[in-house]
Amino acid sequence: MKEVEKKKIKLKYLMSGLMLVGFIVIIAFGLISGYKVIKASLLEEALSNNEVYAKKLAHTADQFLIDSQDTLAYSADIIEQNLNNDGILSEEARRLQEQANSFNSAVVVNPEREVLAVSPKSINVKDKVLDSSGAREANRAQRPNITNPYVTITGKLVVFISHPLFDEHNIYQGLVAGTLYLQDQNAFYDILGKHPYEDESSVYVIDKEGEIIFHKDIDRVGEQVDDEIITQLQQSDTGAFRMTDEHKKRYVTGYSKLEAADWYVILQRPHELVEAPAKWVVQRIGLTTMPFFVLMIIITLYATLRIVRPIHLLAQYTEESLESKSVDKLKNVPSFYDEAQSLKRSLVRTLSTLHSQVAFFQSQAVLDPLTGLTNRRTMDDMLQNWGENNISYAVIMLDLDHFKRVNDTYGHAVGDEVLQYLAEKIKFHARTQDVCCRYGGEEFIILLPHTTVEEAFHIAESLREDLAQTVSPCGDVVTMSAGVAEISETADAPERVIELADRALYRAKEAGRNRTCTSKDEC
Ligand code: GH3
Ligand code: MG
Ligand code: MG
Repeated sequence: MKEVEKKKIKLKYLMSGLMLVGFIVIIAFGLISGYKVIKASLLEEALSNNEVYAKKLAHTADQFLIDSQDTLAYSADIIEQNLNNDGILSEEARRLQEQANSFNSAVVVNPEREVLAVSPKSINVKDKVLDSSGAREANRAQRPNITNPYVTITGKLVVFISHPLFDEHNIYQGLVAGTLYLQDQNAFYDILGKHPYEDESSVYVIDKEGEIIFHKDIDRVGEQVDDEIITQLQQSDTGAFRMTDEHKKRYVTGYSKLEAADWYVILQRPHELVEAPAKWVVQRIGLTTMPFFVLMIIITLYATLRIVRPIHLLAQYTEESLESKSVDKLKNVPSFYDEAQSLKRSLVRTLSTLHSQVAFFQSQAVLDPLTGLTNRRTMDDMLQNWGENNISYAVIMLDLDHFKRVNDTYGHAVGDEVLQYLAEKIKFHARTQDVCCRYGGEEFIILLPHTTVEEAFHIAESLREDLAQTVSPCGDVVTMSAGVAEISETADAPERVIELADRALYRAKEAGRNRTCTSKDEC
């Protein structure tokens, strides 16, 4: 059973496809690994930046708190010596509050938390008892104290920084304190409330239990931070780490501890903001590479077509060469690389040999080797073909007279030459469309398409007469006898026509040789 040939992919598509895939893979890997490297280094950098920055903020905030405490200590000295002097107390409160943006308000209170002096006066708490948690905590401490930030009944987030007052007998006399409104303008807000990242990054302060005590967004004050942050804080006073919060959002976090208040400054920056430049860089690289990529694809496609073309042409011309029996087109295929050149050379060589062998074997199968006339088998094929196509024809059958004698007298080789000589004569007298065959031994047949017996008779006669007037290679004149017949209603098959011609030939021999008889006459 004939195997159905599966349609195969074309080499040009295969090669360009492979190269394209190769390019894409290389570029994709390049971009992805570039992206990863840049991202990793950005994250590393963000970790160390956040740590450094948190440390700096913590240090500045620390410095501010220590300075504030020093200022309070200095005022406390003055106040302790003038506890009964309302004027000096008010003056100190005013100085504390107005000086250098340190406090939003300042108070002097006695041990019962009654306000002895306050600034600014607009607060209007003079002689009233301070009941805030900060005031109570400070009063209880009786030492320099900084409260955790807390929200007052007026909704303000404040820190209460205080210094105790003692008389000359070291008896507690109350305290002097400054209040910082964490969301209002003051130096502390400036330190923590503003940071260089004007985006989703955040700076906040937590106490050591992990409660947010300062945040720009006041609603978040009091919130508990992730346990992960607390775990990290317990390991060292300063550091940086990467974390994912409960909403699966990832952050680069830096932190640092404040010495003055046991607080931690936390600086958090979302991963996507840290990574954003990596995306940008990779996109830029991608865009910059794109024209080169397109150019490479064009060059690759062009090169592929150039490489494949010789192979394609060799295949096409090999196919054609089997029809045309010529290798000229193959010889002219441009082959600029070695493999195509070798392939071309072997194809030309193989096909030339094949063609000459085919020609040789074809002639062997079709022609009689001695005379070069068609052989009997070809004659039979021809007659069958004419029969199938309803082509009318006549047949001349001829035979040399007394040929045995020629052989006997001059030898077989000379006999062969006489046969070749006769063949030449036959070809000469036959027309282009006639088919001349060696029927066997020294008998020959001429097939004459679209020819009547009469026309064939004349051709046979002219051949016979020519022969009879010419000296053959044996040195003597040889003669021939011929019988002519045609296809007709009574002789409608090739065998019948040949039989009629044979009979006519027989009659010619009988009648004395060197003559032509037809199937129609009585000779
Ligand atoms: P006739 O006039 O009756 O035809 O007499 P003839 O001698 O030609 O008799 P016949 O046709 O019987 O003899 C044919 C001879 O042709 C016999 C054979 O030796 C010779 N012959 C046949 N084929 C060849 C050939 O290929 N070469 C040579 N030299 N002789 C051949
Ligand atoms: Mg014979
Ligand atoms: Mg004979």
